[in-house]
Amino acid sequence: MREAAPRDPLPDDQACWLAVGEGAARALEAHWSRASGGEAAPILHATDVHDALTAFGGRPITGCIVSARVLDARPRAALQHLKSRLGHAPLMVLDGGEDDDACRVARDLGVLVWGPEDSAPDTRGSERSKTRETSTWPQAAPPAPRPERPRQTPPPPDAPSSAPVAPRPASLPIDEPGPPLPRADADAPTAEIVDAGQFASGCLRRISKLGALVTYILRTLSEVSNAGRISLMLRESERGTLCLRAGRGIDDSLLGTVRCAIGAGIAGRVAALGRPLAGHGSTGGPRDYRSSAFVVLPLGRGRACEGVVSLTGLPGNRVPSEATIRAWTQLGRHAGLALRGARQLQRARSLSTMDSLTKLPNRRAFERALHRELERARRASTRLVVGLVDVDHFKAFNDRHGHAVGDRVLIEVARRLQGAFRETDLVARWGGEEFAVLLPGLEREDGTQRDPMTALDRARGAIRGRPFALGEGLPAARVTVSGGYALYPDDAEQGDALLHKADEGLYRAKGSGRDQIQAY
Ligand code: GH3
Ligand code: MG
Ligand code: MG
Repeated sequence: MREAAPRDPLPDDQACWLAVGEGAARALEAHWSRASGGEAAPILHATDVHDALTAFGGRPITGCIVSARVLDARPRAALQHLKSRLGHAPLMVLDGGEDDDACRVARDLGVLVWGPEDSAPDTRGSERSKTRETSTWPQAAPPAPRPERPRQTPPPPDAPSSAPVAPRPASLPIDEPGPPLPRADADAPTAEIVDAGQFASGCLRRISKLGALVTYILRTLSEVSNAGRISLMLRESERGTLCLRAGRGIDDSLLGTVRCAIGAGIAGRVAALGRPLAGHGSTGGPRDYRSSAFVVLPLGRGRACEGVVSLTGLPGNRVPSEATIRAWTQLGRHAGLALRGARQLQRARSLSTMDSLTKLPNRRAFERALHRELERARRASTRLVVGLVDVDHFKAFNDRHGHAVGDRVLIEVARRLQGAFRETDLVARWGGEEFAVLLPGLEREDGTQRDPMTALDRARGAIRGRPFALGEGLPAARVTVSGGYALYPDDAEQGDALLHKADEGLYRAKGSGRDQIQAY
């Protein structure tokens, strides 16, 4: 067992993918790297199934991809073991092109089989299964099974005992059950099934951009269901709620504002159960929902559910058959998996560029932004300001009040600094009790120039102007800062030189009595 490409080793509690066999590992790494723009992949590698089964430990596994090659000996037993250990997490087999038996068994067991990766890294490894050059991975998935003819009447096992109510994104949760109405007994004529493998692949390709992924999920489910109204809510784990994030046929002003508790109402129940609910009719919703057929799909499974999609305005106002809903639910599971990956990636990215104490961008993020803004200023022939702001006598402050109180002051300094500048300016924690600011675009639309001294002095005033509350039982304290700045291109043209000159300004401000800003 080895851990994949760890620029930083994977923490024990980090959810990760499990790749079994070299082919699966290479394909997954290549795919992840392409999809995430080069981020290190959270992948554990196992050489064979035995190795994989011991890899679980306490670590959460997002999903598992196995090279068909390593399933040679007893594919059925191996896959069954893996399935039972993975629980709700998905299992996929990578078809190396020469392991038909293993792939057939996998399909028998309902395991998704993916074709090989044509642009995967060199496959001259130890594995027997060379990559086929013509096909693509993971798009070459088998078509999803056609839906079976629907069974009559019995509601799905997860349906509430009384008929559920139509979801109404604008006012979730809705808890009032509606009158029992018959379910449609045939597929809605427009209900189509898309290839689940292709959809999974489409989701994975968008894993590095949460917004694009959400749009793709919404668009696909909307096309597949022909629903007149579709809404997507994402789980907010820390609040125990779902929040409306995207929709079609719904009022945009509701996005980001409508919430429902997980477990409450139809959407909340679907999220809690990780199973779909469908029904017809509501006594709780507004008039146009009262006789609407609806389907609410989980995005993911069980506790791994990342959100829900609600579909109303279905063709013929009919509830689709159970088989159709099952097929859509399968799409929702793929979507949930990708959403989880996308959110993990987003979190990892923000952690790597954010200062954990003040929640400001860190030095690395500032340097990147400086580089980007300098390029822009060069192209547009505009000016920009680089400033450094340092808390005065902070060592003495720490010595007197303790480090924890000092930390609280730094958080408040960061907040006030950020509030003193414009949205388009950047305030970052440069290190210790020092902050860096970047003011791009000094030119105003009316042709006048923004004065950097005024902008920085306003920030200084925001800090000295009001005493800092230090906590219960402690008197409020006055805090001051000193700052220096340099101008592009007047003082220097390169980022390093600008920072150096801003530091010289700061040094002079300190030498001239502190609590002031000095230009270079
Ligand atoms: P000056 O006015 O010349 O800047 O004096 P100063 O005391 O602020 O400067 P000095 O560089 O001597 O001390 C900086 C202090 O900032 C020392 C260090 O303990 C404190 N400091 C740096 N980072 C942190 C932090 O994250 N939390 C706390 N509480 N203190 C910090
Ligand atoms: Mg200081
Ligand atoms: Mg300092």
